[in-house]
Order: sequence, then C-alpha cells, then structure tokens
Amino acid sequence: MAFGLPCMNYFNHRSAELYAEDVAVRDLVRDLGTPLYIYSARTLRRHFRVMREAFRDTEVLVCFAMKALSNLSVLKLFADLGSGFDIVSGGELMRCMRAGADPRKIVFSGVGKTDEEIEAALRAGILMINAESRPELGRISAVAGRLGIQAPVSLRVNPDLDPGTHPHISTGHRDSKFGIPLAEVDHYYAEARTLPNLELVGLSTHIGSQITELAPFNEAADKVASIVKRLRANGIALKYLDLGGGLGIPYQEEPPPPSAYAHTLTGPLRDSGLKLIIEPGRVLVGNAGILVTRVLYVKETDAKRFIVIDGAMNDLIRPVLYEAYHEIRPVVARDGARILTADVVGPVCESGDFFARERDLPEVQSGDLLAVMSAGAYGFVMASNYNSRPRPAEVIVSGSNYLVVRERDTFEDIVRNEKLLAIPPGPDA
Ligand SMILES: *Cc1c(COP(=O)(O)O)cnc(C)c1O
Repeated sequence: MAFGLPCMNYFNHRSAELYAEDVAVRDLVRDLGTPLYIYSARTLRRHFRVMREAFRDTEVLVCFAMKALSNLSVLKLFADLGSGFDIVSGGELMRCMRAGADPRKIVFSGVGKTDEEIEAALRAGILMINAESRPELGRISAVAGRLGIQAPVSLRVNPDLDPGTHPHISTGHRDSKFGIPLAEVDHYYAEARTLPNLELVGLSTHIGSQITELAPFNEAADKVASIVKRLRANGIALKYLDLGGGLGIPYQEEPPPPSAYAHTLTGPLRDSGLKLIIEPGRVLVGNAGILVTRVLYVKETDAKRFIVIDGAMNDLIRPVLYEAYHEIRPVVARDGARILTADVVGPVCESGDFFARERDLPEVQSGDLLAVMSAGAYGFVMASNYNSRPRPAEVIVSGSNYLVVRERDTFEDIVRNEKLLAIPPGPDA
C-alpha cells in the first residue's frame, strides 16, 4: 500500500505464515499463549512520524490520545519520539508520569474531572485543562486558588455538527454531553476571565472517532477559526488551538490520508498565530496491533456455522459495542482451503460475544490460530475480567525481537482485591 496511507503496517503474510515485523506470530503464540495482543513498534513509530510530517508546515503538538492504548511501554515509545498526551483521568496522568512523559505536553480532556484529578494535573504542571462546563471552570479556579497558582485552561466547544460515525463515538453534536454550546462560547470566555485563578490559553474541540470523511473536520476547523478571531477582537488572545482526534482507520472504510487531514485542519487557521494541538488516538495505534486467538471448536447447527475461539468480548469489545468490523485472518494459510461462511464467536455467555457475523473465511479446524486485525486501538484498554477470564498478555515486536509488556492475568490477579468473608447473619437468620 502507498506510503502516507494510514493502512500501512508491518503485519504481513510471508508465504503462508503471518509475521509481526520479523517474528512469526506462531512463535509468539508458542511462547506466550492465546489470546495475545501483539503490537508492532515499527508501525507505531511510523504512524507517529507520518502524522507529524503531515503537519510539517505548521507548529503542531501531537498529543497521543492514550485512552486508545495506554500500556506503559507504548507511552514510553511515544514519549521518546517527542509525543505529548491527551489524558482523560487521574489514572492516565499517573501512567504518563511513570512512562516519563513531559507534563508540559499533556492536555487533560473529559466532561467529569474530580477535584483530586484537577489538583494532580495542576501539581504536575500540565500544558492545559480542557474545561467543558461552567461549574468545572469554577472548580478549576478554586483548586488553583488553594494551590496559589493560575490554572492554564482551554474551553472545549461543541461545534454542533454530525461527523457521520457511530452514535457511541460521535461527540460534536449539540445533544452530546461534550463541550460547551457553540452559541455561548463568548459568554463562557467572558465569565471565565473574571475567575481569579484561571489563565485562558486555548480553545479545543473534538467531534468524534473513526471519522472517514474530511467535511466534518473542515466544518469544525472553520467554526473554531471564526470563534478565535472573534475572541481576539474582544481582547482575548489565545495561544493554543486543540482540534482533538478522530481520524478513522481502514477497518473496512477508506479514510483520508493524514496529509489531506492536515491540509483540512490547517487551512482555516492559517495566519491565526496559534499553536495547533491534535489528539490522534486510533489512527496512531489501531492497525499497529492484532489480537491472536485459537480456534476451540467448529460448531455446525442446521442454521449456521460457528467458529468458537478462545478470545472473547472481554478481550475485545468493539464488535458488540460499536458494531465494529475487524478483518480476521488465519495465522497460517492452508493451501487450497475452501471459503466458508461462519460466525466467529467467543466463549462468554452473551449473544453479543462475537467477533464477526456471516463472514467468509478460509476453512479452519480446531487448534488453528486466527488473527483479529487492527485491534491496537480500544482493544486491550477495554478488556475486562468478565466471566472471570484472565486479560490477555501484551507483547511489542521490534524487528526480530519481542518484549512482553504486560503479563497475562493470573487467576490470583482476578481476585486480588476481593475478600472472602463470612457475612454475619442478619435479622432474618
Ligand atoms: C477519544 C478522544 C480522542 C481520540 O480519538 P481517536 O478517534 O482515537 O483519534 C481525542 N480527544 C478526545 C478529547 C477524546 O475523548
């Protein structure tokens, strides 16, 4: 595939066998078992560079939206490339600091920050807090007042548009819980200016995720550009314009390349004098990761064929949560295999526990390995212990080496914080 397209990655079949960079997936599974998340360091680095390169004519800070993939070693890889981070919780701030991130490259998004999270972020000295409501502005000012500092704040505006993506990952419509209403932006800035411990440094927006057209980005950039101009005319000069994340990856669709995305975002902002911030998540990590599972059974009923695998919705919830499509490939291609239609399902006791429905796949047998492609974003981070299943291990491949960056959960991990107590008899006993 052409250089510059976000679909480029380093998971490829060499003759019959799937490789992660120069390591055979089968070898990783032999050492580490299944289900297994495998990330390619070369792909992660490449995507970061392509994104930064796309904005080369603009002063830009790339803040990786780490909720997409927050393993400490992945964060360190990005921090070492000079990446900033978009965080959405105190826990994510903790991860960033542990991974050695530069706090002056951290922005803090989210609609419900607690006092403790605000205080931790201010103490760490992050670049700015993206505030989303009037009461939040008051809270930030109060916390900053207690600390005796000025809190750097940006207001997240809801640009009221439809990014044409799945409703669960659409955030820029006026009915959504995110951001402050477009029509009230000027009021908010005027009010925020009167609060004693705020420094108004920016304006931010984020319209949704897995967006595969440029028009919504263009509309958002246009809208915020005109707000910035108006604010400046009213004596509020900002430093940063944060246009969020949301660029899609080719699960099945064909998203625009980062270069076109960059062109769309920067056009309306030319000569604004603002430093641009972007918060890409999925596009940096989505196809840099795969989830490898093993076929347990092929089950045929009179209605359907089911491929039952050892991975499940607790390992990757995207198919049921977002009706997401993930390509599924046999790790070792069988010569002359018939193509059969099947549902690929996990062992969890929910009808929603499927990875694919009515999918045409080469015929597989019990024991075969299947790779769920493009599972790097919103994959492991959403994994749970539902059905008391251990969460998978995570491994990063780099060239012909690999590093286990998270061990598979043990049964002990699953019950770590639980207590086995005899509950005293109550009044009815
Ligand atoms: C989730 C999120 C992002 C990243 O979105 P992607 O679609 O993964 O690029 C960026 N900014 C904010 C505020 C977010 O909530």
